[in-house]
Amino acid sequence: MDNPDIRSKGPSRYDVVVIGGGPAGLFLALLAGRSAHSVLLLEKKPSCGKKLLLSGSGQCNLTHEGPVQEFIPRYGSHGSFLRPALMTWTNQDLVAFFMDHGLAMATDPGGKIFPATRKARDILDILLSECRSAGVRIHCDEPVMSVGVVEGGFLARTARGEYCAGNLVIATGGASYPATGSTGDGFDMARKLGHRVEETAPALTPVYIDGFAFSGLSGISFEMLPIRLFRAGKKVREHTGDVLITHAGLSGPGVLDLSRYIVAGDILEISFLPGMDAAALDRHITGMARVHGNRLVRTCLVETGLPDRFLKAVLALSGVPGDLPAARLPKTARQAIVSHLTACRFTVGRLGGYGEAMVTRGGVSLKEVNPKTLESKLHQNLYFLGEVLDIDGDTGGFNLQAAFSTAYLASLNIREHLQKSLLPS
Ligand SMILES: Cc1cc2nc3c(=O)[nH]c(=O)nc-3n(C[C@H](O)[C@H](O)[C@H](O)COP(=O)(O)OP(=O)(O)OC[C@H]3O[C@@H](n4cnc5c(N)ncnc54)[C@H](O)[C@@H]3O)c2cc1C
Repeated sequence: MDNPDIRSKGPSRYDVVVIGGGPAGLFLALLAGRSAHSVLLLEKKPSCGKKLLLSGSGQCNLTHEGPVQEFIPRYGSHGSFLRPALMTWTNQDLVAFFMDHGLAMATDPGGKIFPATRKARDILDILLSECRSAGVRIHCDEPVMSVGVVEGGFLARTARGEYCAGNLVIATGGASYPATGSTGDGFDMARKLGHRVEETAPALTPVYIDGFAFSGLSGISFEMLPIRLFRAGKKVREHTGDVLITHAGLSGPGVLDLSRYIVAGDILEISFLPGMDAAALDRHITGMARVHGNRLVRTCLVETGLPDRFLKAVLALSGVPGDLPAARLPKTARQAIVSHLTACRFTVGRLGGYGEAMVTRGGVSLKEVNPKTLESKLHQNLYFLGEVLDIDGDTGGFNLQAAFSTAYLASLNIREHLQKSLLPS
């Protein structure tokens, strides 16, 4: 909401001051504003929702279909913290909210839910218009530089002024895609207010592979491949998902989701032929060589359905010339092909940084925030929402759902507090 008309001076004291105009902050602000309280939202960038506009490649994967209870494991070991928020404001509630505002939704075959227009802008416009209707004051281009506790509430300082807040909501997001305004400021604010911040790192981020042999295949993707993660020789995790080959490593939802558990030096073992083990593939190749010995090795592998460019690269890696007939394939080369296709091993050089990570792992410690209210356990009337918390979800709409659900639950508590404070004592 960049309309200067709504930037009236207003009182310097607000019932609610929200720091951060992403989905969590905007949703909380409009809900609090609807209860006729004075609400100010301070946004660092010249306009709100910059990251929201990038979400889902600009199409905004808002949430996911299915029972909301099944969302919990999609946030790793921290999912149980979100249970009260998700159960109070479910994926169905979120979809219904936008549909009630005239925006139809569409579900893709994998269960991801998007606005039917496939425009993140439409989601943002509804949030801004509802903030406007609810009388929320939005000050863009006004980063909060510091926060502190004062008598009767909190003080948020910007270069333009000081704002006293009965309730302070920190919804500054994580530290990924810093150009969108999310640069980790909320972590410093939380520390300043005495909160512990769990170590942060990029998550939902691509993986760079040492000596990557498939760099010429950048852009090729594979559906639902089993990916096994090994550390110091031991399998530590297993995941199945889509994989995308990049110029220097691996990405795609399967790898991104696993990235929160990966560290440099780990080994990723991928089977490019889900459902076919090494022995079955070995039998297939030897069988083809016996029956169709004059066929090229490459032709014998066409039935696997793998892209031709990829098969050529695997044969080259296995030391097999493109014109080699199947009958002349040496055993060692056959074994190399089998191993590349059923258990291809990649050594992780590094993970993508904040500039390319979709979310941030770590954040405000969940131990000091009440999951039933999102209120700080250290300061009454202080709230943390969305990605600033030590929560990160899988790809598929789980991060936006967390932002909206935490905002909704906090808004209920803020409303209750404010109503109580209005009652005659
Ligand atoms: C490329 C990309 C694609 C994504 N796609 C999806 C998707 O399709 N589905 C999904 O579920 N998730 C997606 N995500 C993740 C999702 O966008 C975030 O998890 C979500 O936006 C977090 O919401 P938030 O409100 O907590 O924080 P943010 O959206 O990060 O908003 C925080 C806001 O706070 C402001 N701010 C920060 N510091 C200050 C300060 N000092 N003073 C004032 N304001 C401040 C920032 O400018 C920003 O506007 C994607 C992320 C990226 C980067």
